[in-house]
Amino acid sequence: LNLMGRVALVTGSGSGIGRDTVFKLAEEGCRIVVSDINADSARDTAADLREAGHEAIAVACDVTREEEVEHLVAQAGQWGGVDILVNNAGIVKDGYLTKMSEQAWDSVVDIILKGAFLCSRAVLPQMMEKKWGRVINISSRSLFGNPGQTNYSAGKAGLVGFTRALAQEQGRFGVTVNAVAPGFIMTPGMRNLPHFPQLQEAATAKVPVGFLGEPRDISNAVAFLASDVARYISGTTLFVTGGRYSG
Ligand code: NAD
Repeated sequence: LNLMGRVALVTGSGSGIGRDTVFKLAEEGCRIVVSDINADSARDTAADLREAGHEAIAVACDVTREEEVEHLVAQAGQWGGVDILVNNAGIVKDGYLTKMSEQAWDSVVDIILKGAFLCSRAVLPQMMEKKWGRVINISSRSLFGNPGQTNYSAGKAGLVGFTRALAQEQGRFGVTVNAVAPGFIMTPGMRNLPHFPQLQEAATAKVPVGFLGEPRDISNAVAFLASDVARYISGTTLFVTGGRYSG
């Protein structure tokens, strides 16, 4: 894929899909800015990357806070700015809408949408100047609508609209903007759930290919979209769901 020398920033990369994505992008030649609201996990991930022979720094950042995002992106200045931004940070706070608190709504939607807005706004001026850039937004199959996830489904569907609009704005600057929509991915967090065996069985039954995804299935898609091989792809949402869509 030849991402040699590119600088990649992945939000929420202290764990799960984000953590695997920074390893994949590093293996493809990127220098990595690891970022997470959890400072310890960001630091550990960057240390693990360096131990594996890659170049990486860690910056703690809550993507919903403008000043923290500006500080985060400024740290990439030492490498000439961010070439590849992956808006990966996301949380769930499930519950039926009639019982959903304002906080559960705001926090989930803000991390997904405001986070993508603030991070994209912070990195784009340098990408536009270099006439090359990649913004990759991690959406979800849940954009079709999951009961108990009105907040999350709205945020992830909104992220697709954001992706399409920003792709139209940025194309002439050599910046592509795409989304990846994962299905059920077996992250360490998922595996540690007490009801994981039942969850795994129920979820597997709904996946046409007959197995659940691994973080590497998502990071492979991200790396592809980040590469020059994907130069003519912009504004799209790549579903990495084993063939499962709505339902
Ligand atoms: P995860 O919980 O393992 O990782 C998310 C990371 O985001 C955590 O390290 C967390 O500390 C960080 N984070 C939370 N709030 C933040 C904030 N305000 N600012 C910065 N970082 C913050 O989750 P994951 O399963 O790896 O999910 C990664 C992304 O993939 C999310 O956007 C999620 O919605 C999406 N996704 C996951 C799945 C799945 O099956 N795992 C499916 C579809 C979509």
